[in-house]
Amino acid sequence: MFKKILIANRGEIALRIQRACRELGVRAVIVYSEADRDAKYVKLADESVCIGPAASALSYLNMPAIISAAEVTDAEAIHPGYGFLSENADFAERVQQSGFVFIGPTPEAIRTMGDKVSAKQAMIRSGVPCVPGSENALPDDPKEITRQARAIGYPVIIKASGGGGGRGMRVVHTEAALLHAVLTTRAEAGAAFGNPSVYMEKFLENPRHIEIQVLADTHRNAVWLGERDCSMQRRHQKIIEEAPAPGIARRIIERIGERCVAACKKIGYRGAGTFEFLFEDGEFYFIEMNTRVQVEHPVTELVTGIDIVQMQIRVAAGEKLPFTQRQIAMRGHAIECRVNAEDPYKYTPSPGRITTWHPPGGPGVRVDSHAYSNYFVPPHYDSMIGKIICHGDTREQALARMRTALRETVIEGILTNVPLHRELMVDAKFMDGGTSIHYLEGWMNQRKR
Ligand code: ADP
Repeated sequence: MFKKILIANRGEIALRIQRACRELGVRAVIVYSEADRDAKYVKLADESVCIGPAASALSYLNMPAIISAAEVTDAEAIHPGYGFLSENADFAERVQQSGFVFIGPTPEAIRTMGDKVSAKQAMIRSGVPCVPGSENALPDDPKEITRQARAIGYPVIIKASGGGGGRGMRVVHTEAALLHAVLTTRAEAGAAFGNPSVYMEKFLENPRHIEIQVLADTHRNAVWLGERDCSMQRRHQKIIEEAPAPGIARRIIERIGERCVAACKKIGYRGAGTFEFLFEDGEFYFIEMNTRVQVEHPVTELVTGIDIVQMQIRVAAGEKLPFTQRQIAMRGHAIECRVNAEDPYKYTPSPGRITTWHPPGGPGVRVDSHAYSNYFVPPHYDSMIGKIICHGDTREQALARMRTALRETVIEGILTNVPLHRELMVDAKFMDGGTSIHYLEGWMNQRKR
C-alpha cells in the first residue's frame, strides 16, 4: 500500500478520498486554490499545498503545479477525483512519466474512452450494444451526412466526439435542420472541447439513463457492482440517482453487467469505471464510459457494502480485487439527492457564506459534504455542495428516510435546491419509479411556486 497520496481535487470528493486514505492508513496531501484556502477539509489533511489562484485553469487544471506538489511532498500516487483532470489522458501520462502512480486506468484507456466515437467502436468490438448511428466521425460532405441521417431515421442527435458534462449535443427532427445543426455543433465543439469532430446517433424519445459500475484490477479480474438509475436530469445533468433501477428484471441487468465485465477484460481496463446506457423498451444502448469515480458512487456503496474509493486505491497499488462476482451481494435500495447551491426555482447559482449548516442523520442516512456553518461557497466552481444518500430495505423505506432527512436539513445564508428535492420525494410519478430522462424537465415546466 502507498504511504502517501496526493488528492488533486476539491470539495466533497476531496474529503471523500481523504476519508478513504485514513481508513487505509495512507497519508493524504490536499492541493487547493486560493479560494479554498480556509476550507476545513484542507486543514484536516496531513499536508496541503496551494497550487494557484481561484480560476480552475490556473489551479485544479494546472498540471505542472499539481505534479510539483506531489514532488515536494513525496507523495507516491495521485487521485484525480471527478471532473477537472480526472479524464485527461495527457495528465495521467505526465503523472506516470514523473514517476507517480495515477489512480485510474491507463492513459490509453482514458484516451480511447474519452473520445465517444472510439469508445463506441471499442464497445461494438466487445459486444456491448450501442445506440444505432454513424460508425465514424461525420465527414464534411453534406450528401453523405444527409444519407446517414436518412439511414438512421429522424429524429437524430448530433454529438461532439470530445463532449462531456451534458454539452455539445443537438437534436434534429427534420432534414431541413440537419446541416445547420451539424455546423453549429462542430463550431461549438471546437470552441468548447478543442475538437470539432461530431457524430450522429438515433435520438431515443423516452429512454431511462441506466449505468453499470465496474471495478477491475491489474490481475485480469473485473466485476460489476450492479446498476444505477440516473434518469432524473436537468439539462443532461443528474440530480437524483438510485440503485437498483426500479422495475427492470434482474436477468436483463445481469446480461448487460456481464457484457461490461467482458469489455473491461477485452480493453485491459483497470480501476473503477462506469458504462452509461440509455434503456428503452427493454433494450440497453451504450452512450459513453466514464473512466473515474462518479458523483453518484455512494448509492452503489450502500447497496453493496463495497468502498469504491478504497478499491480504486488498492487496485492502483497492485492489489487483487478481494472478492469475486459471486461474492457481491446487493442489499436494499439507496437514493442520492445532490445538494446544489442554487435558486430552487430559477436554478441559478447561489454562492456565498453558509450561516447555518444542519445536516440530517439517523439510520440509513449518509451525508457526503465538505460544507459547515460559516463555510464560504466560492463562486468559481460547480454549485454542488454535498450529497444526501439514504438506504433502506426497500425503495419505499429509502424514500421515507430521504423525506425525513430533507425535512431535518437546514441550510441558511445561501439558497439551495433542498426544497426541490422535498417536492420530488412526494411526487407520485417519481414514487412509482421508472421515469424517463425527460420527466424532470417536464415536471419543472409545470411546477408552481
Ligand atoms: P455527456 O458526456 O455530456 O454526459 P452523454 O453522451 O453521456 O453526454 O449524454 C448525456 C445525456 O444526454 C444522456 O443521459 C441523455 O439524457 C442524453 N442523450 C445522449 N445521447 C442521447 C440519444 N441518442 N438519445 C436521447 N438522449 C440522449
